[in-house]
Amino acid sequence: MTGDPRRQIPRTDTLLTDPRLSEAHRMLGAEVVKQAVREAQQRARDGRIKPVDVLPAALAALPPAPALLRRVINATGVVLHTNLGRAPLSAAAVEAVTAAAGYVDIEYDVTTGARARRGRSALDALRAAVPDAGDVHVVNNGAAAIVLAATALAARREIVVARSEMVEIGDGFRLHELLASTGAGLCEVGATNRAHLRDYAEAVGPRTGFILKVHPSNFRIEGYTSAVGVADLARLPVPVVADIGSGLLRPEPLLPDEPDAATWLREGATVVTASGDKLLGGPQAGLLLGTREVIETLRGHPLARALRVDKLTLAALEATLRRPVTPTASALHADEGELRERVERLAARLVASGIAATVTPSAGVVGGGSAPGLRLPGWAVRLPPGLAEPLRHGVPCVVGRVHDGHLLLDLRCVPPAEDGTVAQAVERACS
Ligand SMILES: *Cc1c(COP(=O)(O)O)cnc(C)c1O
Repeated sequence: MTGDPRRQIPRTDTLLTDPRLSEAHRMLGAEVVKQAVREAQQRARDGRIKPVDVLPAALAALPPAPALLRRVINATGVVLHTNLGRAPLSAAAVEAVTAAAGYVDIEYDVTTGARARRGRSALDALRAAVPDAGDVHVVNNGAAAIVLAATALAARREIVVARSEMVEIGDGFRLHELLASTGAGLCEVGATNRAHLRDYAEAVGPRTGFILKVHPSNFRIEGYTSAVGVADLARLPVPVVADIGSGLLRPEPLLPDEPDAATWLREGATVVTASGDKLLGGPQAGLLLGTREVIETLRGHPLARALRVDKLTLAALEATLRRPVTPTASALHADEGELRERVERLAARLVASGIAATVTPSAGVVGGGSAPGLRLPGWAVRLPPGLAEPLRHGVPCVVGRVHDGHLLLDLRCVPPAEDGTVAQAVERACS
């Protein structure tokens, strides 16, 4: 006779020695865990479960783990895939973000104990990367950079801009609507395919806030076209705000059609705006590079506070600028011969596992609205299209490209150390 089984119901402090419950205690708080434990104990007292089942019942009653963003292996061959979060951060940037997650000297001078300019070391890194800029400022994204410039420099005035440069950025955001929302008037000049310096010159007047030059990053107009460059626009007696979008700070020989901040500043742009998470390969951010006076005006505008970036962004941006070997650069410059070897090795392993894998040429693209039309020669493993879905549902999730009735896994954006993970994912998807 062991007596009343209810005396065998484990006590709360005994239950809390279980590592899973003590972890939940740490992550979810005491109340949630105690509630789950009390309810399980009560069910045992009522005889609905056995005393040995109290711990499993308490664990089962804990709220499920929060749905976090899922890690994706990008086997699409699209380097800056907007749906997959554009640029992946470098190892250095990830380390910097982790370090910045606690208390940091973001607005504090540790030598004097006084308040300091927010994020000054990240701003110093950006200035050092583009010495042609008198000063720099960082906001939440490229669109915010344009909004800040328009609000601070042209609200209740006019922005002169070519009709051929009124782009839709993506997901329905149109530049002219964004600009109109700031209270600036738009003065469109030229025709859809052509604009001339005299069009701008005739439009510029006392109401002009600035001329906006936009790099039409995500489309190309071919044929009978002409556009006016920054160097010519800078001869007119108003500021020139130049949106390069792509985030190239210096010329990139691989992308001869992409403008860069240094060149447009040297040509006379008053301010250049760009994204942080495109070709720069950093965190989502909007970069503003320009003359000292204009950056001073932008930084001092009340809207700047609403568009300011957090410390994690500043940390990631600084690391990206100071150690610019990014996954984006690696994917962009991936050697075609090496890609082919990796793809052949992967295909051979899959064939050995009885999977119908072949090797096929695959053109990668920059994506993220940059360098439209540019094809990056590479290679992919070709698989039956039915594998696309199980690969998406796997852990980690692998996203390829369905093309011509086949699933292509392009290794351009896959770090070489992950080739084995891709192979395992395909083997699992087939099993
Ligand atoms: C991408 C892009 C933007 C918008 O930048 P976000 O960082 O996405 O807000 C604006 N202008 C151009 C030319 C772009 O390519």
